[in-house]
Amino acid sequence: MSTQFEIQGLKSSIEGKEILKGIDLKIKGGEVHAIMGPNGTGKSTLASALMGHPKYEVTDGSVTLNGEDVLEMGVDERARAGLFLAMQYPSEITGVTNADFLRSAINARREEGNEISLIKFVRQMEGKMKELEMNPEFMHRYLNEGFSGGEKKRNEILQMMLLEPKLVILDEIDSGLDIDALRIVAEGVNAMRSEERGFLIITHYQRLLNYITPDFVHVMMQGRIVKSGGPELAHRLEAEGYDWVKEELGIVDETVGQA
Ligand code: ADP
Ligand code: MG
Repeated sequence: MSTQFEIQGLKSSIEGKEILKGIDLKIKGGEVHAIMGPNGTGKSTLASALMGHPKYEVTDGSVTLNGEDVLEMGVDERARAGLFLAMQYPSEITGVTNADFLRSAINARREEGNEISLIKFVRQMEGKMKELEMNPEFMHRYLNEGFSGGEKKRNEILQMMLLEPKLVILDEIDSGLDIDALRIVAEGVNAMRSEERGFLIITHYQRLLNYITPDFVHVMMQGRIVKSGGPELAHRLEAEGYDWVKEELGIVDETVGQA
């Protein structure tokens, strides 16, 4: 079955302050949706709310993955259901190696008794690391500890490749990447494009979208999607910035603001 991911009227608050003010978005398997927007407009909040971060309270709306109620699920259940988030600022976890972490994550998605064998896992991980041009030593390093910004981002893509999620959310995967790393990361994403998998790519700049061509582009301001279009919208934003969108819609302050 092809993936269907649907967000309807999603509102979310942090410490009583409403950040997301009603998000509607439908992503089908095979589609890449880009969310673009200036800083402070609620993009990362959307990613966190979708993954079930405890700090982000959902006050209204619904989220379903293949008809299943995502908001009812805990964080681990969401991961098992096939949701994946590559974070803007991945956490460092001392004492847990990258290989241990990834193998546990893969096995958590499998039935008991059907765990991946160590040999098969190592072979897969080595293969994907090679594709991402990662040094094999990263297998045994503690998760993200002392990784550079670019190494962390590659490692997030490595996780995505091994976990084979149904709905991939990438939050500013391009930040901190030089042009070569950007190309490698984009190739990793493109290799994962398939009918069974949808993508939500959050980015501030259109640069990444030169390498990953989106089917739809959405602009976020004030905790809402204020404009949607095709890839040409990203090109116009690249050329002209965000001011014309604000003018067109009569928006003065695009951030979520204090209220
Ligand atoms: P973006 O990713 O578009 O830059 P964010 O979703 O990170 O925007 O932030 C939107 C607004 O929510 C900002 O005003 C930010 O300060 C606020 N916010 C986000 N996360 C938190 C948090 N954990 N605690 C308090 N405020 C937050
Ligand atoms: Mg952000």
